[in-house]
Amino acid sequence: MFNGIFHIRKPENEPVFAYAPGSRERGELKARLKEMLENPVEVPCMIAGREVTTGDLVEIKAPHNHRQVLGRYHRAGVNESEMAIDAANEAKIAWSEMEWSSRATVLLKAAELLSGKYRQTLNAATMLSISKTCYQAEIDSACELIDFWRFNPYFMTEVYDDQPISTRNFLNYMEHRPLEGFVLAISPFNFTSIAGNLPTAPALMGNAVVWKPSSTAVLPAYYIMKILGEAGMPDGVINMLLGPGPVIAPPILNHLDLGGVHFTGSTYVFSTIWLSIGSDIRKYYSYPRIVGETGGKDFIFAHASADPDILVAAIARGAFEYQGQKCSAPSRVYIPDSIWPRIKERLLDEISTMKVGDVCEFGNFMNAVIDREAFDKIVGYIEFAREDPDMEILCGGTYDDSEGYFIQPTVVQSRDPRSKLMSEEIFGPVVTIYVYPEKQYEETLEICNTTSPYALTGAIFAQDRFAVVKASKALRGAAGNFYVNDKPTGAVVGQQPFGGSRASGTNDKAGSWLNLERWTSPRAIKETFLPPTDYRYPFLDED
Ligand code: NAD
Repeated sequence: MFNGIFHIRKPENEPVFAYAPGSRERGELKARLKEMLENPVEVPCMIAGREVTTGDLVEIKAPHNHRQVLGRYHRAGVNESEMAIDAANEAKIAWSEMEWSSRATVLLKAAELLSGKYRQTLNAATMLSISKTCYQAEIDSACELIDFWRFNPYFMTEVYDDQPISTRNFLNYMEHRPLEGFVLAISPFNFTSIAGNLPTAPALMGNAVVWKPSSTAVLPAYYIMKILGEAGMPDGVINMLLGPGPVIAPPILNHLDLGGVHFTGSTYVFSTIWLSIGSDIRKYYSYPRIVGETGGKDFIFAHASADPDILVAAIARGAFEYQGQKCSAPSRVYIPDSIWPRIKERLLDEISTMKVGDVCEFGNFMNAVIDREAFDKIVGYIEFAREDPDMEILCGGTYDDSEGYFIQPTVVQSRDPRSKLMSEEIFGPVVTIYVYPEKQYEETLEICNTTSPYALTGAIFAQDRFAVVKASKALRGAAGNFYVNDKPTGAVVGQQPFGGSRASGTNDKAGSWLNLERWTSPRAIKETFLPPTDYRYPFLDED
């Protein structure tokens, strides 16, 4: 039995490669993209460390090119769901009893593998299957996931280090046990890092997991499983099921051994999951721990003292990088009338230089939206804006799905601060601006705070410190991640723990000890050295 006192040093964030012309990383990535395009893969489910094929095959297509078939995956059904639960329950026994330092080394090794030989594999898979530029893939599938795998073992030691007070006669200690039962992880399409974090965070804390990645992000999920396997993740600790959530999830959610759900995705699906668990809560062995990070209607709020260049760059990057498909992407902007004419001119100028197209052409700033459903939904909002007399499309508003799901960066001006486009999550390259009377700064802050049900991210742009303080106070509940003079996207593990409240989720802050704590069920132990030998207290004695 290992008896050393093991320390994990506080990591540093993984440096981001620039992919400039002529750089080594650009050459390596291009080679890997070519290889992946020429060699479609067949992706099985992974249960108990075995590749499970069902024969129910689905094509994996690139969103930016309908003709590009990247492979096929085997769709799971109810049988596979049951097999995965059994595998998790069995693997959990030895895994949860293993020393925490051994569990940590699996993720630390996975981080090194991803930082090195798998970096361009996961970046290429992310670019091709969820349509990201090389830079957007690099900050997601390389850097953020490496950070999750390096920082979480460190955060685990912070959780375990939290010990109660002891005295000379009593020794008190806390054991952070894993949850009883298994954990179900369900991940969204838009971040490979989130896909890699959702199953591994509970696993690190000693849980075994059934993981259902998004059906539109199967390829990155496949490589994540390969990396974890090579890093030494024991069979059955993470079991991957591919296919539609409404088919795969119900038997798992209804299983009485369900210990927890680690979800990221839309507010609607999360509330469906919560309702399903809540509808018959008495059947479970323990109350399932439910953690969900969900939708957003993120904002940028400009004060009259905002620096115009900084503001324009923040709107352009924040709203349009990754086609506005980041949960943190600002999609409503409040600008005072005094600076609007200048901002408008510069913003439209900047947007006119943005190119939209295939991920393999590195000059493109934007690529395609994820699928037909997303395309139709976003187009619906654009057409709604076109018809509404209170709205004006200032640029973009065009789209084309003949080759891939392309939508041009679109700016809408809304005269109504509570219109549909100012309040609903669109999750696409559409940003809506409300121009407010400069003198109504405080009233407009209140409108911003009360317009949408979400509270994920937001930003204030101002040079005047009074304005910053006022906004921070008025918008205290409006965002779990609040930025001052910076765009509200791009949270970094260890720097900006991420998550929001209201309809945006349970705010359990991915990328911090707060999230890891949720995958434990602490046991407090009191040990008394010299216990009493008589039940009587002194006050019972006669005077
Ligand atoms: P989604 O809700 O459509 O899907 C998320 C996952 O749930 C997928 O794996 C999907 O297959 C599964 N699913 C769908 N229906 C299900 C059901 N009935 N039961 C169980 N599982 C089901 O979300 P998406 O389109 O993949 O991602 C976009 C959404 O995710 C946006 O709303 C975005 O804001 C949100 N998001 C939030 C964060 C955050 O940290 N707050 C991060 C990323 C994405």
